[in-house]
Amino acid sequence: MDQMEKLWAYMEEDIKADRIDSELRNSPARQSLEKLRAFIKERQNAYNAIDETIAVMADRKDAISDAISRAETTLSALIERANENPPETVEDTQLLIDEIEKCRRTVLSYEQELRKMSSESTEFDARKRTIRREAARAKQDFDQARAAYNAESQTKKEAYTAQRQAADAKAVGIPAELLARYGAVKRQITPPLARLTGGKCSGCNTSQPSAALRKIELGQEIVSCETCGRILIKS
Ligand SMILES: [Zn+2]
Repeated sequence: MDQMEKLWAYMEEDIKADRIDSELRNSPARQSLEKLRAFIKERQNAYNAIDETIAVMADRKDAISDAISRAETTLSALIERANENPPETVEDTQLLIDEIEKCRRTVLSYEQELRKMSSESTEFDARKRTIRREAARAKQDFDQARAAYNAESQTKKEAYTAQRQAADAKAVGIPAELLARYGAVKRQITPPLARLTGGKCSGCNTSQPSAALRKIELGQEIVSCETCGRILIKS
């Protein structure tokens, strides 16, 4: 058998092995596994983002509590001063009332913010519970999908190994540079070999120049199709 025919026989087995490998990679079980993995990761990120927001909120809460007690201190000082030295004019009385009112409004607005934060934190807790539930369910689905994939892939992996060995056996006796050329063409187009039929490349159906046809007939050098790049072999 000449080298090109050996290469052809090798290609047939090589492509079968590639097909099993691609089935393994594109199996629905594997794809649902990847999808679930991504979903769980996304839920974890959402959970962490809520925790970060809660931490920021806790800091703000501390700052507001401090501000409220400062405003309350100011308010008591104002009232005490008014008791000790009651304002004597209408203007002074009005000034005092304005100051007290300002303090009171500050306290009120801070208290309002605190109430809003407290309702938000209830909401965050509920969201976290939902996320935990969703993630736990996804984890269950993930474990099931993984078990299914492992069972399926075990059989397929064995079939792949056997087919790869069959291909390797066919490679025996083919010069290394011819195999390297085959590999290079295969990275561009597959199948990498094409029969010459009626002067045409059977891969892309392009008529080949007569010089190329002569070279192929002589079988002294490797000829590639100028259009698709496949290595041409006599029919
Ligand atoms: Zn071609």
